[in-house]
Amino acid sequence: MRILTHLCCGPCGITVLRDLLRAGHEVTAYFFNPNIHPLAEYLRRREGAGAVCRRLGVPLIFADALPPEEQEWEEGESVRLPEAAPPGQGRPLPARRFPPPAADPRPWLRLMAGLEDRRCSLCWRIRLAMTVRAALRRGFAAFTTSLLYSRRQDHNGIRGTAEDLAACSGLHFVYRDFRVAWREGVDLSRAWGIYRQPYCGCLYSEYERYAREGAKAWGV
Ligand code: SF4
Repeated sequence: MRILTHLCCGPCGITVLRDLLRAGHEVTAYFFNPNIHPLAEYLRRREGAGAVCRRLGVPLIFADALPPEEQEWEEGESVRLPEAAPPGQGRPLPARRFPPPAADPRPWLRLMAGLEDRRCSLCWRIRLAMTVRAALRRGFAAFTTSLLYSRRQDHNGIRGTAEDLAACSGLHFVYRDFRVAWREGVDLSRAWGIYRQPYCGCLYSEYERYAREGAKAWGV
């Protein structure tokens, strides 16, 4: 099956891509993550994703290298799927859309203002909706995501979001619990020298991670 696989970073992609390749699928990776801040961190993860795909021989689409109309995402939970139409023949872009450079945190922070407590569900939905959109444009039959490898995120929430988008789009969502091979991904990413990130991605998650560490260090 031709599967477009959303890739959040290199380390999470290793097990996911290897598993899909072993199963005989034709796999293409898709890097779309406007939730990674700051810029230097975004670039490190982007490079890590590229290094993993080169090693595995998997074609990789960097969404931030696509034409602007393929990088634009909508605000809020109402991320809409495109019609399955070729580029230029779909629904006109709403005026409120904005095409941020992918690593610019300002649009992301504006979007999340007041919604911080449920930011993760928005974050998954935006990334997966864009994956579905890219898959429809390119005639893929199915999609999945390396987010399903994470042991720290809400696995069922990610799965539910993807299933919802699959139902809306008519694409097949390839579900696997990639966490079962979590150790393999860690070991291979280290052996291959792939950058391993210390926090989930957004500035909120960076703050929370180091706030916890700081509290321990301060003994509070
Ligand atoms: S914590 Fe992670 S999943 Fe949640 S909003 Fe931030 S980057 Fe996205």
